[in-house]
Amino acid sequence: MRCFESLIMTPLLTPLPVNIDEIKGFLDPREGAALQAAALAGAKLGGCLEIGAYCGKSAIYIGATLKSLGAVLFTVDHHRGSEENQPGWAYHDAELWDGAAGAMDTLPHLRRNLRTAGLEETVIPIVGRSGAVAAHWGGKLGFLFIDGGHTLEAALADYRGWTPHLVRGGLLAIHDVFPDPADGGRPPFEIYQRALASDLFVEVEAVESLRVLRRL
Ligand code: SAH
Ligand code: MG
Repeated sequence: MRCFESLIMTPLLTPLPVNIDEIKGFLDPREGAALQAAALAGAKLGGCLEIGAYCGKSAIYIGATLKSLGAVLFTVDHHRGSEENQPGWAYHDAELWDGAAGAMDTLPHLRRNLRTAGLEETVIPIVGRSGAVAAHWGGKLGFLFIDGGHTLEAALADYRGWTPHLVRGGLLAIHDVFPDPADGGRPPFEIYQRALASDLFVEVEAVESLRVLRRL
């Protein structure tokens, strides 16, 4: 197996099975390393789930660690892209456009990347809107990573729909938390603040725009 972890400055818990720079996505390598550590701790307490797969960048970081434990990651995404991924927006990538559907489709890219990474048995994609999946979810989670839509509606649905499934001691990671509005949209920051204000969570880690909280 070829390993590319030497390209990354932050020490990773588990080496990556692909050149992560070739995977489209939105995650700093330091955030990937922090996610591996949080997933390792959380997997001992319950299931692991991510909202916002995109092409699998974060799922490959997390999946590499979970594979070594024999655990799995569920990754939820409707695969039609967030607002900022749509044509004309800042984070649109024309290679991810499905002309026949007239919509974004990141699912084929996710599948290809998981196959290349040898993670098809570890990362389990769930294709659907986060709120709809959460409403039917029954399992207890030890690790939850919220990296989905950035509208207030989407972020609140993620927070309200999924955090009740997190066990005591479980870890909640939230991406794109920007305390300064000049750096980015506010809804992920708002659910982060809501979690802290609830007195149900304490912050355990802050790396770039990633925050990791522990459920008390
Ligand atoms: N974790 C990824 C990036 C995720 S980008 C990485 O490491 O690169 C955000 C993703 O959330 C997009 O793929 C988008 O389709 C998805 N998304 C946005 N709103 C959603 C919703 N309400 N339900 C499910 N998926 C959603
Ligand atoms: Mg993100």
